[in-house]
Amino acid sequence: MVTKKKVGENSNQDREKVVLIMAHPDDAELSSGGSVAIWVNEGREVHYVICTNGDKGSKDPNTSPFRLAEIREEEQRNAARVLGVEQVTFLRHRDGELENDRAFRNELALLIREFQPKVIVTHDPWRPYMVHPDHRAVGFATIDAVVVARDHLFVPFWLELGFPPHAPLEIYFTFPSAPDYVIDITNTLEKKLEAIGKHRSQMERFPQWKDLIKAMAARMAEKEKFSYGEAFKRLVLI
Ligand SMILES: [Zn+2]
Repeated sequence: MVTKKKVGENSNQDREKVVLIMAHPDDAELSSGGSVAIWVNEGREVHYVICTNGDKGSKDPNTSPFRLAEIREEEQRNAARVLGVEQVTFLRHRDGELENDRAFRNELALLIREFQPKVIVTHDPWRPYMVHPDHRAVGFATIDAVVVARDHLFVPFWLELGFPPHAPLEIYFTFPSAPDYVIDITNTLEKKLEAIGKHRSQMERFPQWKDLIKAMAARMAEKEKFSYGEAFKRLVLI
């Protein structure tokens, strides 16, 4: 017997998909690379959505923003390959210029309906004193997009195009002000470092970057029984 899918029903939860929606190439690895490696090892399908092309990410006055965007996209593909990420979707907005407007929310909502993740990982937009505007914009737009993706009366013609509503079960916020979920990345720290190392255009500015990343991972595991962690704020949506 064929069971008809109800509007709003989660259709693909058994695949345990995880989608990371991040502002810049390198945000996914810096915040969650060790966890991504674990999820992939567990057989979960991981997708990245990278919202900007990172074309402001240089201190070199002679850098071409167009060339920089190309370099950073290649670096992001290489880093994702190290971790076994299924697919990277580049939205290619201009770095530093994102706004949480309806067009951007709908762009993200459609991707949520397409990928049907159980978990979404994004920036914590409520983190106080967070300077980068793209991190705030992406965090807020992602939360808003979850509502658009979930409720069938938003953009009704998407149904006719074959994108039924989808409700993720959880959002994990990266670098949160109030972490409540620390993932043990002790066994995948090296993989995280290898992936971050692919972002050469960014890391070459910080000769001690490996030590800095290790120290951050140790700090996040300070109250845990393991050595290295990645901390998240976990929001359960049901
Ligand atoms: Zn960023």
